[in-house]
Amino acid sequence: MNLKDKDKTYIAPTYNRFPVEIVSGKGSLVYDETGKRYIDLTSGIGVTSFGVADDVWQQAVISQITKVQHMSNLYYTEPCVELAELLCEKSGMGKVFFSNSGAEANECAIKVARKYQAEHKGPDCFTIVTLKNSFHGRTLTTLAATGQEHYHELFQPLTPGFAHAEPENMEELQAVCKETNAAAVMIEIIQGEGGVVPLSEAYLKAVQAFVKENDLLLIVDEVQTGNGRTGEMYAYMNYGLKPDIVSTAKGLGGGLPLGATLLSKKVQDTLGFGDHGSTFGGNPVSCAAAVSIVKRIDEALLKEVREKSAWVFEQFTGAEGVAEVSGMGLMIGIKPEKKTAADVISACIEKGVLCLSAKDKVRLLPALNIPWEVLKEAVEVIKGEL
Ligand SMILES: *Cc1c(COP(=O)(O)O)cnc(C)c1O
Repeated sequence: MNLKDKDKTYIAPTYNRFPVEIVSGKGSLVYDETGKRYIDLTSGIGVTSFGVADDVWQQAVISQITKVQHMSNLYYTEPCVELAELLCEKSGMGKVFFSNSGAEANECAIKVARKYQAEHKGPDCFTIVTLKNSFHGRTLTTLAATGQEHYHELFQPLTPGFAHAEPENMEELQAVCKETNAAAVMIEIIQGEGGVVPLSEAYLKAVQAFVKENDLLLIVDEVQTGNGRTGEMYAYMNYGLKPDIVSTAKGLGGGLPLGATLLSKKVQDTLGFGDHGSTFGGNPVSCAAAVSIVKRIDEALLKEVREKSAWVFEQFTGAEGVAEVSGMGLMIGIKPEKKTAADVISACIEKGVLCLSAKDKVRLLPALNIPWEVLKEAVEVIKGEL
């Protein structure tokens, strides 16, 4: 059996894979089993922040893996402490809880919000209000948080205590929060899986003011938008927001599984001994990898992300075959005018460029350090296929 047939035979069919097998790569270039070269504008859905097999990341992983690959959280290890300190310095948050994925980072955020409000506002204050068209993960609780009905249908009953409001509609958000005696509002700054849909600055600021006035917690899901992706360390920083809890994952470990829930000083001591835990959370290899990533997300890199972003927006805005360009930083959605996103992506694969989709858009999530000449080559290819 060849690899594709074996995959069909032995792997649960939850992924509609593209007909490409990737065997190796370097930076923003990856190669299939025949040696064909592809420019990677997906970075594993925003995971390989500095590309594939990045030297600095690799050295950090190798160095740690030859010392100790795992210890239980019952003992101290240096990489997770160093990473937590770095994340707090870069975000102004107080403490960090480590897990292994975006969904888990959100689960922790939800647990913190529930316990905090149970202690402050009483046991009836538990509902988390999220937005329609949001995406917060695949576990039963984060599915309940996800504001898209079609993800819910086959998996009832989901965890209770979630409600959804239309984005950009403050009146509806206020009404839903009031009706449900909400504990927290949870948002993505840019709805990624929902089609690279940014929330407006006016709406975000109104949400911040509303939660503050009503003593609700603000949870920002930065699983996709975090760690330099939008041209700031975290996307909420583009608007000067002050979230109480921030969840992140994808690009944090640069390709190893790692989730982090950043807790503001207000909620940092909500969870105590035994309230939460994770066997693999804060794994020293994942954390050493993440330290090598986070240390390099400095002002120079963020400036480069913003410059490349501005150039890509310029290239596609008003270009032939383009209906709309959305997003921020190197998280960009392109809505084709006539073709479907799937058709554009298939044509680009033929030409050696890998892109993602999000709803009706072609979604680009290249490595933060994609070289200019590689980016330019890829954009020319996409323009030719729109
Ligand atoms: C990908 C994603 C998640 C889920 O992350 P996993 O690591 O797949 O669990 C949650 N929220 C957002 C905004 C995401 O983009």
